[in-house]
Amino acid sequence: MKLLDLHNLSRKRLEALQASGIEYPEELLLLFPRRYIDKSNIVPIAMLRESGEPVTVVGKVISKNVTGFRRSKRLEVTIRDQSGAMKAVFFKGWKYFITQFKEDEWVALYGKAKQFGRSMSMAHPEVDPVQDPDNLEQFETLIPIYPGNKYFSKAYISNSLIKSWTDQILSSTRVAECLPEKILKRHSFPERHRAFQTIHQPRSRKESQDALLRFKYEEFFLFELSMAKVKNIRISRAEGTVLKPGTLTKAFFNEILPFSLTDGQKDALGDIKTDLQSGLQMNRLIQGDVGAGKTVVAIGSMLIAVDNGLQAALMAPTEILAEQHYQTIQKYLEPLGLNFRLLTGGQKTALRRDILTDIEGGTCQIVVGTHAIFQEAVKFHKLGLAVIDEQHRFGVKQRNEMLLKGDHPHLLVMSATPIPRSLAMTIYSDLDISIIKDMPAGRKPIKTAVRTDKERENVYDFLEESIRAGDQAYVVFPLIEESEAMDLKDATMGFEKLKRRFPESHIDLLHGRMKPDEKEGIMKRFVEGETQILVSTTVIEVGVDVPNASIMIIEHAERFGLSQLHQLRGRIGRGGKQSYCILMPDTKLSKDGRFRLKKMIDTSDGFEIAEADLKLRGPGDFLGTKQSGLPEFRYADIVEDRLLLEQAKNDAWNIIKIDPDLELPEHRELKKVFGPYFKERAEFFGVG
Ligand code: ADP
Ligand code: MG
Repeated sequence: MKLLDLHNLSRKRLEALQASGIEYPEELLLLFPRRYIDKSNIVPIAMLRESGEPVTVVGKVISKNVTGFRRSKRLEVTIRDQSGAMKAVFFKGWKYFITQFKEDEWVALYGKAKQFGRSMSMAHPEVDPVQDPDNLEQFETLIPIYPGNKYFSKAYISNSLIKSWTDQILSSTRVAECLPEKILKRHSFPERHRAFQTIHQPRSRKESQDALLRFKYEEFFLFELSMAKVKNIRISRAEGTVLKPGTLTKAFFNEILPFSLTDGQKDALGDIKTDLQSGLQMNRLIQGDVGAGKTVVAIGSMLIAVDNGLQAALMAPTEILAEQHYQTIQKYLEPLGLNFRLLTGGQKTALRRDILTDIEGGTCQIVVGTHAIFQEAVKFHKLGLAVIDEQHRFGVKQRNEMLLKGDHPHLLVMSATPIPRSLAMTIYSDLDISIIKDMPAGRKPIKTAVRTDKERENVYDFLEESIRAGDQAYVVFPLIEESEAMDLKDATMGFEKLKRRFPESHIDLLHGRMKPDEKEGIMKRFVEGETQILVSTTVIEVGVDVPNASIMIIEHAERFGLSQLHQLRGRIGRGGKQSYCILMPDTKLSKDGRFRLKKMIDTSDGFEIAEADLKLRGPGDFLGTKQSGLPEFRYADIVEDRLLLEQAKNDAWNIIKIDPDLELPEHRELKKVFGPYFKERAEFFGVG
């Protein structure tokens, strides 16, 4: 069957479908209802009560009026069914909503009814067109409501037309099954064709939900098959260079490093050494909470590469962090007589050229830098190991670009715990994972407190005392978008205020819009203890390490997400001193805001905080799919459906283990689907 076989398909409608990404009938089947109107739940208008529960009303549009003035201006639409009349009221966006109603046409409203005077009304109900109110009878109880778009509405593709198309497709074709039978049985999934029927011709909500599960699984399953496949390909391609620790590595750990490693650090390094000697390309993630000491692990690993005559690169997501890593490396590795360079975006052309020559010629053994390292102009002489710090700030794509750079370098990525462990294991399943659970000895738990603006003077008194005793402090202002001039004003004003309050102290202001060398100078002064108070936006959020800083005041604390607060707080408590984190919210606190601050007081466990953050914010926002470069799933949600993801992962990896090229007869249909799926994404997965 082709799209053209659909009834009532004009040229215009065909184009609208194509513009919406629908080229084949099956893609129309993949357009799932946004929701279902439960006809058994349609309430006659006369029976509406203020129950606080949303209900559906179906009625004919009698009139629509814009009333009120200025702020109270609103759209009132009266609808009527056999039993009575009611109003839908729109206070916002009425210019749009007014187009949703045509007199004498039928609509379904979904919302909470409220009594106003003698009649009932709904404020901002969901509005769905109903083409033929008598036709409601044709369905058992549930009416699928499809997502619309501007192409659909221009071509008059109505809800009932879509419904009749999906009916037509389902009755004239039999959709092929792609999941192996064993898997269908294992999870009691309906067959694909049946599942489509259940979605488009629902008999009960429960049944459609179960069918939806199958499609979610399918998405995860294909994704995890890819991950397993990617890993196989890498292993087969990656004649990884065998690297063994030598004199430099030994000198670093035995003579230079001023402390002994924690067990977690030792284990992680052990895993890395094993990988580097395995003859295969390493692809490992080190997960460890803020302050766990990942940098040292990175440096040790890079030295192994250098010991074997190869280059190593360390990537950081911000210039400040790159600069700081550079200084740390300088501090530790200068005595070893190594040549290392810092490469960032903001450098002058002449300097940049010099650095690039150094890298290409191989005279530079270690490169530290930002995204700039990914650029094509950067050519390594012989890159043996690439380390990506704070890897959640980079995309999967970038991670994979690194793998393609040079001659199959080993790859080490590091991350604090912005995502719960179980989730990491499933979405980064092509990586091997080492977890650093312990913290360096001698750390005192940070004391966290909430103080209001009224207590500001007390807070400042405390700050004054601490500074006098030789401590250093951060005062952090939110700056969500580096371009938000408003927020920047906040930080700048706060800075001025602090200067007036602490005339004796040295205070600096740091934000992302400063020039690189300006930032550098400010950080340097703070690291060297010249500055007592560093007023900053969230640019210090990742990685910054100044062990002497023991106080952090976070202004407008309620505006930060939990994970972000945790990351920020991780900047202190890095030395042996007692550290204090003071959260200063605005007076108006939302329920969520209050919960976040309380959580910060209650725990310092990164995993626990990540879990709580996840629950609060929901998946999309939490992971920032775009930012993390993870694939977006159409139906499934990596967080909400994570159990399903885990199952799909296990199933997929097992299949690839037994049948890497899907040659078995039982995988024939699967191969037909997986082949094109994988091909399309090979580049994304870094095996293109
Ligand atoms: P993160 O894991 O957050 O990147 P860092 O690598 O910045 O942590 O380390 C935090 C601080 O702890 C640094 O000042 C570092 O020198 C110190 N550190 C790391 N490992 C140890 C250790 N084993 N013993 C004592 N201090 C350590
Ligand atoms: Mg770090």
